[in-house]
Amino acid sequence: MDTITDPTRHRILTGDRPTGRLHLGHYFGTLQNRVRLQDIGVELYVVIADYQVLTDRDVADDLTGHVEELVLDYLAAGVDPARATIFTHSAVPALNQLLLPFLSLVSVAELSRNPTVKDEIAHSRQSAVSGLMFTYPVHQAADILFCKADLVPVGQDQLPHLELTRTIARRFNDRYGAGVFPEPEALLSKAPLLLGTDGTKMSKSRGNAITLAAGADETARLIKRAKTDTDRHIGYDPVGRPEVSSLLLLAALCLDRTPSQVAHSIGAAGSAALKKVVTEAVNEYLAPIRARRAEYARDRAYLRTVLREGNERARAVADTTLAEVRAAMNSL
Ligand code: ATP
Ligand code: MG
Repeated sequence: MDTITDPTRHRILTGDRPTGRLHLGHYFGTLQNRVRLQDIGVELYVVIADYQVLTDRDVADDLTGHVEELVLDYLAAGVDPARATIFTHSAVPALNQLLLPFLSLVSVAELSRNPTVKDEIAHSRQSAVSGLMFTYPVHQAADILFCKADLVPVGQDQLPHLELTRTIARRFNDRYGAGVFPEPEALLSKAPLLLGTDGTKMSKSRGNAITLAAGADETARLIKRAKTDTDRHIGYDPVGRPEVSSLLLLAALCLDRTPSQVAHSIGAAGSAALKKVVTEAVNEYLAPIRARRAEYARDRAYLRTVLREGNERARAVADTTLAEVRAAMNSL
């Protein structure tokens, strides 16, 4: 990211599934990078992937509520709708139309061996796997390529999806005309895979997350029950001691220190002392974000305006790209 010399030459797209409130994994995995780049002048697009929750029935029942919660999290974290475009992909028909030519560029075998899809299927709590689920990575390619983004701030779990987006861009360009799409690059943060309280990837849908919106007491309670180990000497060793190391990383990010420095300050005081440090660091770091969130939450009409304007901007961009795609394909 430090290599960005001319912010106006880049465009970022990234986003989230509206499956619940955003958590610390999102914040330190991607959201903070989005805001940082927006603030130095890179154009930012944020997609709320509402078609990708049709497979989660419990969420789909209150989609509007979930979408508004995401907008709140974005605004609280510093995404500025005057500069950034926040949109739902279901509201942008031309984006979705890209799915058809893109699907023709990938094989069923490629889709079914995608590790992120496999993992999402494993956690989907559905008895049957829908066809839509297999198209998620291709849909994500449409999300990224409709606005010709070249940088995608994501967590580690999304790297296979991004690789497929690069493949689709390359194959499209090879078949229909050079230079229509860029091959976007992933932008990983210092926390590409923050662990949840159970020691697996912090996820909205796994009940192991500390949300940005959580209260200070709830945060303390959640961190208290986080999985650690029995070694009283606290040390940073992501491979040998993943749970303790993820907590150290979390505190370090909040305190603007290194995980080793935080470990050193705790020494042999054990997991309880580590959790106390983490709780205080997280609550202090999130306090202004939580205050802003509560402020924005009072004005639901404003959230809808942000989305309406974002959707309009995204539609204009998607129409232009689709026209270019159709011309390249001699369409149809
Ligand atoms: P779900 O469980 O519904 O899939 P999620 O918590 O995995 O939700 P997504 O909406 O799938 O969240 O992911 C949004 C973005 O946040 C992606 O770029 C993803 O890589 C990133 N992200 C999610 N969880 C983490 C995490 N624990 N650490 C780092 N990045 C994360
Ligand atoms: Mg996910």
